[in-house]
Amino acid sequence: MTTKAPVGILGATGTVGQRFIQLLESHPWFEVAWLAASDRSAGKKYADAVTWRLSTPIPARVAALTVNAAAPAQDTPKLIFAALDSAAAKEIEPAFAEAGCAVVSNSSAFRMAEDVPLVIPEVNADHTEMIKRQKWYKKNGGFMVTNPNCSAIGLVLALGPLHRRWGVEKVFVVTMQAVSGAGYPGVPSLDILGNVVPYIAGEEPKLEAESRKLLGTLGAAGVSDAGVIPANIAVSAHCNRVAVEDGHMESVSLKLGQPANADDIIRTWNEFRCVPQKLKLPTAPEQPVIYDPAPDRPQPRLDRDRGHGMSAVTGRLRPCNILDWRFTVLSHNTIRGAAGAAILNGELLKAQGYLS
Ligand code: NAP
Repeated sequence: MTTKAPVGILGATGTVGQRFIQLLESHPWFEVAWLAASDRSAGKKYADAVTWRLSTPIPARVAALTVNAAAPAQDTPKLIFAALDSAAAKEIEPAFAEAGCAVVSNSSAFRMAEDVPLVIPEVNADHTEMIKRQKWYKKNGGFMVTNPNCSAIGLVLALGPLHRRWGVEKVFVVTMQAVSGAGYPGVPSLDILGNVVPYIAGEEPKLEAESRKLLGTLGAAGVSDAGVIPANIAVSAHCNRVAVEDGHMESVSLKLGQPANADDIIRTWNEFRCVPQKLKLPTAPEQPVIYDPAPDRPQPRLDRDRGHGMSAVTGRLRPCNILDWRFTVLSHNTIRGAAGAAILNGELLKAQGYLS
């Protein structure tokens, strides 16, 4: 019988923290053993501290755990999945790395830091190499790895295989982002029902910069301190909040470095497999990018759960009158865009030997 590795969740009571607990309930490698949240929740049983928002019940074993204060302690597991808001993450996450933990973070606080890998395992699994440059890793094996903003993940999963084959030069993207992306309680219902809000604070620069880092190249250790050299892609983003519960949809136009035809682009998406599929990581979707040929798909309600919420679904590929091609992409923001992405990163780190 194999023993599962204990894991901790920082921000366990929030929207993403709850997804972690749901997705880890029967995980073959990891078991939730430690929870933390703000002082409002610390000291309470998890079931009493959380406003549970998911359609499956709180796993009984987790419901009975006591929520800890968000500081490393003797019983803190090595692997910590973090779902803190960015201001809290800035203070708290380094303290865990300093204490020797592997912090796999959802927040934006350290995504663009030079020595912190920003990882989608299908796109840039090699960027975890940057862990070895972190001061905590050199000192005691602690480190920090991040997953991207929830709208960057769907976009970059769709762009990644095209960039590899033809080179992507320009991207124009308009997002329609679900309300769960703002956490709980998030956007007031009177602001969003029957409405579209054409502004999400900080979102457009994140989507633009993170996409370039994710598709960038790792600078040589000792030669360049640049960490990742960002891909030379011009990205222009317009981000909107829409009255959808879960699932971020994006309309994309792009210019490629070389000519491509529609059949080849669709085949490149559908046949795309990478490190997580080869390693058979438990959370890896069989098909990371699924092209749906129906003229009116993907749609959030119908398609966000494909590949257990871990696949990006593309559709409506057609020529663009301004750039080369245009299409729609959808991904589940709290699964592929947050908790599922971090769990897949945790699995990658284990497979690469960083957790031993
Ligand atoms: P959320 O629902 O607001 O949850 C925030 C969590 O952080 C709660 O557990 C909260 O605990 C805890 N917290 C807040 N302040 C704290 C402090 N000072 N010390 C310790 N814990 C503190 O937010 P969320 O939507 O889950 O997002 C979490 C992170 O993931 C954010 O950085 C967000 O940008 C990122 N993210 C979210 C999504 C998404 O789709 N929602 C997608 C990708 C990334 P209490 O309950 O005790 O207050």
